[in-house]
Amino acid sequence: MRFLSALSAIILAGACVAQKPLTLTILHSNDIHAHEEPTAIKGKTYGGLARITTIIKQTRAKEKNVILLNAGDCFQGTLYFNIYGGLSEAAILSRMGYDASCLGNHEFDKGIPNLVEYCKHVNFPMLASNIDMSREPELAKVIKPYTVLTVDGMKIGVVGLITDTTGNITLGADTLTFQEHLKPCQKAVDELTAQGVNKIIVLSHIGYEEDQQLARKLHNVDLIVGGHSHTPLGTPALDGWRAPGGPYPTIVKDADGVEVPIVQAWEWGKVFGDIKVQFDAKGKLTKVIEAKPIVVDASIPEDPEIAKLVDAFRIPVTAMGGAVLGTSSEAFTDKVKVGYFVADSYLMATKKLGVDFALMNPGGVRSNLEAGKITFNAANSVCPFRNSLVICELTGAQVIQVINDSKGSLIPSKGTSFNRDATNVVINGQPLDPAKTYKVVVNNFMAGGGDNLATLKEAKKLDTGLSDIDAFVDFIKANSPLTLAGDNRGGR
Ligand SMILES: [Zn+2]
Repeated sequence: MRFLSALSAIILAGACVAQKPLTLTILHSNDIHAHEEPTAIKGKTYGGLARITTIIKQTRAKEKNVILLNAGDCFQGTLYFNIYGGLSEAAILSRMGYDASCLGNHEFDKGIPNLVEYCKHVNFPMLASNIDMSREPELAKVIKPYTVLTVDGMKIGVVGLITDTTGNITLGADTLTFQEHLKPCQKAVDELTAQGVNKIIVLSHIGYEEDQQLARKLHNVDLIVGGHSHTPLGTPALDGWRAPGGPYPTIVKDADGVEVPIVQAWEWGKVFGDIKVQFDAKGKLTKVIEAKPIVVDASIPEDPEIAKLVDAFRIPVTAMGGAVLGTSSEAFTDKVKVGYFVADSYLMATKKLGVDFALMNPGGVRSNLEAGKITFNAANSVCPFRNSLVICELTGAQVIQVINDSKGSLIPSKGTSFNRDATNVVINGQPLDPAKTYKVVVNNFMAGGGDNLATLKEAKKLDTGLSDIDAFVDFIKANSPLTLAGDNRGGR
């Protein structure tokens, strides 16, 4: 496919592009989040890159014109990312034959140099039309606003978009500006139109609602392939699945009253997007011929080549993930209670640096704890982000502001408690002293002002470089079986 595209491009160079109708199948994924392997839901498994590859190969054998797109957020979510930093996805997605991907916000999780490496290792273009990269020339070399694919001698423009909130929700992108979606997207579309490209797809990582708002304002876009909001569209709500957020495709009328289909494929490869459309000789999308996301279940055999590749990458993942660290006295299904242990682990790791107490953001607690053995995998699903621990110096008055910034949602370490309205604040068993300076340990996401924690952003602070997962692992090893018996942080 790639070879043929290159060949066609050479043949067509300088010649007038043929104008005839085109039937096109678009296969698409989004928010894979390092799920090389299937995910278990209620005793069944869904997803897996080897199964998805079988679907791709079967579709390419059956259909003449197929393109394969990814709508961002390959990074972050399993040990594959923690161990390989994106390089396992780079290797596997390149073999799967993707034609283009847009950037997702999580692609910045390990910083810009890591993303530059990823982009150099993939064999498909990485797209975003709404990032000011003038202060990051290395990144600017490997990210393009759009690409042009050649299918059956005809050109298809693909424009990339990333959520304009990326600057607020990641710490790895301080030197970049993420522009509001509409203008840069339309500019890229207009450039393509001026080049004679009359079939244009927006490949977007901005979210389902935002895709619809955008579509209403755009001109000359035929289709939007989206991601970021992890929205299942049109899929049957199987046992344990999230109900669909809308039809597949969702049709919205653009600024000229033209219908634009919007598609998205939930998350983690549990479903795989598949839409077949008809373009007329003028390049106008006239019809959705077939559209149905494919449920990636165990009935789909694994492609042997990709399965072997995943097997090789899995060896250190298994070794690291299966190690038993300790035990839990009971199942903790309340994320706040799990967060107590995380907060306690922050404090334990920094106690010798004179820290008084810890605060944890509830959004950073990503999983429950089961009763019994706690493996590294289990600990990692609680703390998957690889945040560092940051010590902030705060007066008692500022501690109250921080609690208020979070609307009372922050989770304190043992011995510290407060009401949601920041009254009755107790620090290590003593009433809070507004004039006293406290050393408070938080994670670097919070310290950077994430989750609207503006007071923390302004505070005097020190990034210890200690990793949250290391702290949590050490805590489990030192405190098993984990229990909250006699804990006084109640009232939350
Ligand atoms: Zn995202």
